[in-house]
Amino acid sequence: MTDEHVRPRVLRTVAQLREALAPARRTDSGVGFVPTMGALHDGHLALIRRAAAERAEVVVSIFVNPTQFNEPADLEAYPRTEERDVELAAAAGATLIFAPNAAEIYPAGFATSIHIGGVTERWEGASRGASHFDGVALVVTKLLVAVGADTAYFGQKDAQQVAVIRRLAADLNLPTEIRSLPTVRDDDGLALSSRNARLSETDRIAARSLSRSLSAARERVASGERSTAVLESEARRILLDAGARPEYWAIVDPATFEPLSDVVPGALAIVAARVGDVRLIDNLPLA
Ligand code: AMP
Repeated sequence: MTDEHVRPRVLRTVAQLREALAPARRTDSGVGFVPTMGALHDGHLALIRRAAAERAEVVVSIFVNPTQFNEPADLEAYPRTEERDVELAAAAGATLIFAPNAAEIYPAGFATSIHIGGVTERWEGASRGASHFDGVALVVTKLLVAVGADTAYFGQKDAQQVAVIRRLAADLNLPTEIRSLPTVRDDDGLALSSRNARLSETDRIAARSLSRSLSAARERVASGERSTAVLESEARRILLDAGARPEYWAIVDPATFEPLSDVVPGALAIVAARVGDVRLIDNLPLA
């Protein structure tokens, strides 16, 4: 890394973060915030670049949040690459890194939980267990309160998570504006994910079927198909033929994640599938 990027400070405690952000809070240029679990790729970097284009101070958090993992093996296998992440985040425009340990976020005696109804109940909420989105909501609330950002940036890749966080921010009157940015993909269509690193070469070919199933549905909608049942059965066929094991493939309202029986404007196609021992998700607006 060249020295054109000042290496950002890496802060470990909420107190250090508050102190470091106090001057920026008094300016008009404001604070942007990008929460991540590290293992940064171009999807994360696109969020950081956008934050840097809009805000003078850009906080990137790196925290592998234990409370949102329902599979201990997945938490264990989650890549941790902090040194490299700090360099990449700096090059993309981060000015502060917040990388607390679990005890800083969940100290002894921690007893608060957050549960969001409705939008959390199906799909990722059902597959990964209700505690998944409770864990996301809790850590995102804690981070948003700690950073006090003007704008927080999230990826549309995790579309249900964005809907949950929008619900949370509205319900709790959180003052941070929630922004979501389009999914960044590899040339072959596969949505970038920190979990892609765990795909073998053959799994990677099978993994492309997630985005293919979505874009095939979009093409069918463009040529007049409106029935979710028809689109879903064609999509499942694409996944199965490629060797992916679908968990769900559905068409939903993008705000409530309620299923739609017919494609209407704004409808979102969502998919989760297992390839090898890796669980992948993707989504695409259909119209
Ligand atoms: P994670 O580190 O997986 O918790 O992701 C941190 C943020 O990056 C979340 O807002 C994700 O939705 C976003 N993100 C992850 N993958 C992508 C991608 N391929 N394109 C855009 N944003 C992404």
